[in-house]
Amino acid sequence: MTQTAAPALRMFIDGRLVAAEGTPLDVLDPATEELAGQVPDATDAQLESAIEAAGRAFTTWSAAPLEERRAVLRSLAAVIREHTDELALLLTAEQGKPLEAAHGELRSALHWCEGIAEMEFPAEEIRDTGTHRIRIRHVPLGVVAGLVPWNVPLALAIWKIAPALLTGNTIVVKPSPFTPLTTLRIGELLAEADAVPAGVLNIVSGGDHIGPKLSEHPGIRKIAFTGSTATGKKVMASAARNLARVTLELGGNDAAIVLPDIDVDTVAEKLFWACFMNTGQVCVAAKRVYVHDDVYDAFARRFAEVAAGVKVGDGRDEGVQLGPLQNRVQYEKVVALIEATAASGARFLVKGDIPDGPGYFVHPTVVDDPADDSDIVRLEPFGPVVPLLRFHDIDEVVERANASEYGLGGSVWSGNPEAAERIATRIETGVVWINEGPRLAPDLPFGGHKTSGLGVENGTAGLLEYTDTQVLWSRTD
Ligand code: NAD
Repeated sequence: MTQTAAPALRMFIDGRLVAAEGTPLDVLDPATEELAGQVPDATDAQLESAIEAAGRAFTTWSAAPLEERRAVLRSLAAVIREHTDELALLLTAEQGKPLEAAHGELRSALHWCEGIAEMEFPAEEIRDTGTHRIRIRHVPLGVVAGLVPWNVPLALAIWKIAPALLTGNTIVVKPSPFTPLTTLRIGELLAEADAVPAGVLNIVSGGDHIGPKLSEHPGIRKIAFTGSTATGKKVMASAARNLARVTLELGGNDAAIVLPDIDVDTVAEKLFWACFMNTGQVCVAAKRVYVHDDVYDAFARRFAEVAAGVKVGDGRDEGVQLGPLQNRVQYEKVVALIEATAASGARFLVKGDIPDGPGYFVHPTVVDDPADDSDIVRLEPFGPVVPLLRFHDIDEVVERANASEYGLGGSVWSGNPEAAERIATRIETGVVWINEGPRLAPDLPFGGHKTSGLGVENGTAGLLEYTDTQVLWSRTD
């Protein structure tokens, strides 16, 4: 195992690196519970200076040619690419995911940054009648606040930085206090490379006080938030004070529906990873697996075999497939949910080990057909525990899948893709996959229905959420 030395990182404000004033914030490695790094706990004055810098930079940046803004995104991607190995190690140290998955997240961040850099959002010609020419322009909003969670910290920061900058906004990004290291390190590398004009991109770190201050600030014109539904509601209330625009990407409780005409072994294995990737800490992970009665027993057997065979451990160790939960709060929440599920008398197909520390490790756990109204079915566990649920007919399973306050994603698995598609169109979520685990793309809109979110990220629709509409109505005769 190669441990990196715990770095003390600085914030990136107005093109300069800014160190901690006062006591820095400790960031723990979830596999060892040792120090992974230290970051500044931004003071009010530091936060203010970041918002002011972004406000000053907006005038020039919003008027800069689109090609110039694309070039800055390409430079950001180049900096990430050049330092991939160092960044992947840091990401594993703070987030816990296996090194290979950290490289996967870096590849995804690059794909998004480079993909969004090439996107278009041209003015639309509505009509030109000889007497009138009417166009619709998409104009930037001002300073964006990007609030990022701890499960996929780097990729989700890029999801906000790239569209905000391309459309001519400036941004203050705030990573989660649990996982600020990789994002701050990128700020340091950008400062060294002088790759972004001062104030266009600012990265601030700190404790729980920073998020509310940012989202309430009158200098913020839009909040791009990814996190839990509970926090998303608070963010929306804060945004209302200044009528700041919001995009909210929130929690999910995705249902997977498995029809009887599948290849059991193949689908069980694919679905296992759709549930447990990133140790279940993925908003669009499958979190309830409904399996047709005809194949339930065979499916459950294979699913449990895969679960029992997975190598869980420190993400830097060779062959590790799943890392720890990312933080103690989440670990305790998941352990409590598993214990409450056991206490309720539910059966387990696999009850994974919960070894004594150090490290927030919970081995994959699979619950055998619990009641629909149990917490393990209703709540979003956001950890390595999944219920398999037996169903008998399509109308019944569609109703059960839709009986959730969430509406983020879902999947249907069948040997007959057309039949699966007919079911998919009845699922009340922002995305439904057929015979695939969760996949997203920079050019496809992604957003939740119901309490899973508001608005979308990605795709042209996602870009346009970083703009206001302006009608140019010219009399030309
Ligand atoms: P969280 O809601 O606790 O925090 C998200 C971010 O908001 C963090 O940066 C946090 O510091 C900040 N924050 C906390 N309180 C705030 C407040 N009052 N005002 C402003 N900002 C505040 O979420 P988390 O625990 O970091 O992430 C897990 C959750 O995120 C899960 O529910 C998961 O489903 C969801 N998630 C959703 C998506 C999606 O795209 N829909 C993607 C990843 C994660």
